[in-house]
Amino acid sequence: MTERPPNPLYRKAVFLTSAERLAQAPGDEGWEVAFAGRSNAGKSSAINTVTGQKALARTSKTPGRTQLINFFSLDDERRLVDLPGYGFAKAPEAVKRRWQRSMEEYLASRRSLRGLVLVMDVRHPLTEFDRMMIDWCAHQSLPIHILLTKADKLKRGPAIATLHQVRRSASAFGEQASVQLFSALKRTGIEDLQAVLDAWLGLSEPVI
Ligand code: GDP
Repeated sequence: MTERPPNPLYRKAVFLTSAERLAQAPGDEGWEVAFAGRSNAGKSSAINTVTGQKALARTSKTPGRTQLINFFSLDDERRLVDLPGYGFAKAPEAVKRRWQRSMEEYLASRRSLRGLVLVMDVRHPLTEFDRMMIDWCAHQSLPIHILLTKADKLKRGPAIATLHQVRRSASAFGEQASVQLFSALKRTGIEDLQAVLDAWLGLSEPVI
């Protein structure tokens, strides 16, 4: 990957609004990239790291906001979106159903949505939650980028082995899925993630 300075736009991310359902979401224009992940996977830390802000995604953890879709704006046309996630297997049926409806509605009808970053703990990849998200994205032909985070928790060998294993599983979804290692703690993989976001948010330099 060619070295270039990060786009300064990420540092400008600010909390925009929370939505319980799509009708409350900001105008569906411009470019949007969503982040999803099972609770505790490291999604908030990834959003904070990529935007260079310590507490941006903490907003999403405010009690009462955990089941909401949280929107952050980078500029007038570009947004990052924090999708609700939880310990899926343990969630009550009614909560699961409500979550499922709101996710399906969002993924199926959000025209400005250009891609989904799916955050997984590198030690526990491809959970039931993850497979469901991958299925939905495949169904909508929505590009997906898998972030295997907390990579600092594994030695290099096992981390690379997991990367390959998840790549193999994801290749079933063809060109639409990419996978990388990431660590919010060690700050590794940030440039690769920003390159994916740049492309999806229309920030990449045009190829001549
Ligand atoms: P979320 O529920 O998916 O938003 O997860 P958080 O970002 O709150 O992270 C859950 C826990 O994992 C917290 O204790 C974080 O400090 C920790 N964590 C997140 N990312 C990393 C990482 O890259 N490395 C390590 N070692 N811990 C991490």
